[in-house]
Amino acid sequence: MTMIDIIEKKKKGKELTSEEIGFFIDGVTNRLIPDYQISALLMAIVLKGMSDDEMTTLTLAMANSGEKNDLSFIDGIAVDKHSSGGVGDKCTPIVLPLVATFGVESVKLSGRGLGITGGTIDKFESIEGFSTSIAIEDFPSKIRDCGMVISGQTPDLAPADKVLYALRDVTATVDSIPLIASSIMSKKIAGGAKAIILDVKCGSGAFMKTKEDAMKLAQAMMSIGKLAKRDVRCIVSDMDQPLGNNCGNVLEMQEVHFTLSGSGPEDLVCISSIIAAHMVDMAGKANGMSFEELVNECKNRLNNGMALEKYKDLILSQGGCISSTGGPVYVDVPFEVFSISAPCDGYISRVDASLIGKACVTVGSGRLTKEDKIDYGAGVVLRKKIGDRVSRGDTLCSIYVGRSIEADDEKVDTAASYALDAYEICDIPVEKGPIIISTLV
Ligand code: URA
Repeated sequence: MTMIDIIEKKKKGKELTSEEIGFFIDGVTNRLIPDYQISALLMAIVLKGMSDDEMTTLTLAMANSGEKNDLSFIDGIAVDKHSSGGVGDKCTPIVLPLVATFGVESVKLSGRGLGITGGTIDKFESIEGFSTSIAIEDFPSKIRDCGMVISGQTPDLAPADKVLYALRDVTATVDSIPLIASSIMSKKIAGGAKAIILDVKCGSGAFMKTKEDAMKLAQAMMSIGKLAKRDVRCIVSDMDQPLGNNCGNVLEMQEVHFTLSGSGPEDLVCISSIIAAHMVDMAGKANGMSFEELVNECKNRLNNGMALEKYKDLILSQGGCISSTGGPVYVDVPFEVFSISAPCDGYISRVDASLIGKACVTVGSGRLTKEDKIDYGAGVVLRKKIGDRVSRGDTLCSIYVGRSIEADDEKVDTAASYALDAYEICDIPVEKGPIIISTLV
């Protein structure tokens, strides 16, 4: 078997056998195949696609390319959640403590943000002292402490994906449903979860810009999960406007705290409760409640302080600081440097998530390269969202930088123009769309 034959076969749109896929992933993992041949096959996959069986074989080969987590110390079924990423997506720090109140234990391996989509690890690191480098041997004791652990991904998990992802990034081969689906699912499977709830984001601030593409990705991951004998459910959710009101690391964690204190924005409360309800149900801890009752019970536990207590346990378990007033201590304090006013009266018809994401990155809340340092206090707070009525001069959104960082006027001006462009105002009332667009079970 040679790589040239395999590339030739995929170029003609033929289905690869499990031996061929195994040969490819083995060669990728052990760095036996030159980058130009790997890239050629990736491009052939982008152009010709893959069947469900091929995608599943590719996923399992990638999942088996390194260490696999053994989560047998978890009490019950290990359930994981994954979001395909978006602007203002802060569900994980809400959902983990929320499901812990039902006795659902979770090990969450997360990444850092790159580009306009934030990363859960950066968000947790905006809490003073919070460590996200937890050794695998310490997972069981953290689970015994508080029922959850959150850590950065270990380099040994699905190493073939790391090689492929780095090459995809520089060969215009990221936007392929089989490659995205196998990349995400390989890490979930290697992570040890038996049940997985996937949140595929759809809209301007997401990988998948259209509902059609988001549904294709959702279906691809569902088929991989089923063929790989995992219990998988998937929601497709709106990412045309940012989720919640706050975007940027400390700002988002402040909104997490409001939400766990019963004062969260409606879209964030709704999606977090639905994801949590799926996790509780898949973990077999619904205690006879219907799905609707479970969602309502999740909302109750955000309002009555139960989830907040678990969140504080998680912060303390991972070395984070809690102030004497009971809230987390953050590494910086967001400081409002500019507000954007409505140029006319009317109704908000668009808040483009990708432009708000660009505004955030411009003032320093995200990275353009892996090496960039971030300003934890930077970001944007939306004061108006789709459907809201505004009068000329009302504040649409505000731009923040960390108090410890001197604002760079040029960057603030650029961010302000992105933020203003993100808004569209029309003169007839606008109905808000649903946050959950579709559910696949
Ligand atoms: N996230 C991943 O982990 N892989 C992809 O290919 C895209 C998003």
